[in-house]
Amino acid sequence: MKQFQFVRPATQQSVLEVINKPGTKIIAGGTNLVDLMKRGVTAPDKLVDINHLPLKGIAATKTGLHIGALALNSTVSEDKTVIAKQPLLSMALKAGASPQLRNMATVGGNMMQRTRCTYFYDTTMPCNKREPGSGCGAMEGYNRMHAIFGASDKCIAVHPSDMCVALAALDAIVIVAGKKGERRIPFTEFHRLPGDHPESDNHLATDELIIGVEIPDNNFAKNSYYLKVRDRQSYAFALVSVAAALEIENGTIKNARLAMGGVAHKPWRLNDAEKALIGKPANEESFKQAAAIAMQGAKAYEYNSFKLKLAPATITEALKHASGLV
Ligand SMILES: Cc1cc2nc3c(=O)[nH]c(=O)nc-3n(C[C@H](O)[C@H](O)[C@H](O)COP(=O)(O)OP(=O)(O)OC[C@H]3O[C@@H](n4cnc5c(N)ncnc54)[C@H](O)[C@@H]3O)c2cc1C
Repeated sequence: MKQFQFVRPATQQSVLEVINKPGTKIIAGGTNLVDLMKRGVTAPDKLVDINHLPLKGIAATKTGLHIGALALNSTVSEDKTVIAKQPLLSMALKAGASPQLRNMATVGGNMMQRTRCTYFYDTTMPCNKREPGSGCGAMEGYNRMHAIFGASDKCIAVHPSDMCVALAALDAIVIVAGKKGERRIPFTEFHRLPGDHPESDNHLATDELIIGVEIPDNNFAKNSYYLKVRDRQSYAFALVSVAAALEIENGTIKNARLAMGGVAHKPWRLNDAEKALIGKPANEESFKQAAAIAMQGAKAYEYNSFKLKLAPATITEALKHASGLV
């Protein structure tokens, strides 16, 4: 690993003074960044430790729930207010990584984690995300884990987070701080599709720090479910995952939120499928119809065509669980 400088500026303001310098990276739990450094995928000159900043809080507000960027994945998943108000988030977090990793991983770091595409990690292979212009090893390679939505001819990698799928479904807002002040980004607009610039995963500017997320209050707590399909029961990334949240009144769906993981470069919100569910009876037929709508525009590659069947089946199953049918 290349030698690097390690600094711990005392305040948020002093962090913002240094993070914009070339070769500088923020470190939170380090569970993704240090792996990438060990493998030579990234080689920062300076790490800026932010773990001492007062960004660990979880608090109910007048309009929702505020979670600090440094709250640990394990703390958030076990928090009583989170479980009561937003159980979908707790379920998604518990489906991620392992207990040990969740004890280190932070909310901000989870959002910023990089893809698990093996061609991105393997520095002997071409990867437009790691080295723009070098090509995409996955396109003609072993692309079993890869995208079926929103990919480009430059990159077919997927975003690996579970937490982010729930936050996308729940209309969360990302709060970021820069030298000029704070800005709020709708969660579904935080991450980006690869297009011609797969090296860029999201819309966070290089001089900005994630300080927290907010989830507006909703009526989904009773009927939420996160379903993750993976190769192992634990410690494996999603082949396909679905965050499903329903508001049901007398057997009829009043409101719905759906997002998928493991299928795109960003958490994939299923707006059309949500609309199709509203006003329908909460039964398997409605769920299958919504799942079919969600799959419009899907495109598979040589080794991931199984996702074209797995994804709608997972949507249907997640909705059955959320509605209490199973
Ligand atoms: C073996 C293994 C299995 C895993 N399985 C899963 C899984 O199943 N599901 C899942 O969702 N995740 C999984 N993960 C990923 C894990 O969730 C992430 O590594 C973790 O969430 C990253 O958080 P961190 O605080 O350690 O981030 P770090 O590694 O410290 O940082 C990651 C990135 O975020 C940036 N960053 C951190 N905080 C901020 C901030 N506040 N503002 C701006 N930038 C910031 C850093 O600069 C860096 O680029 C797994 C990881 C491993 C190693």
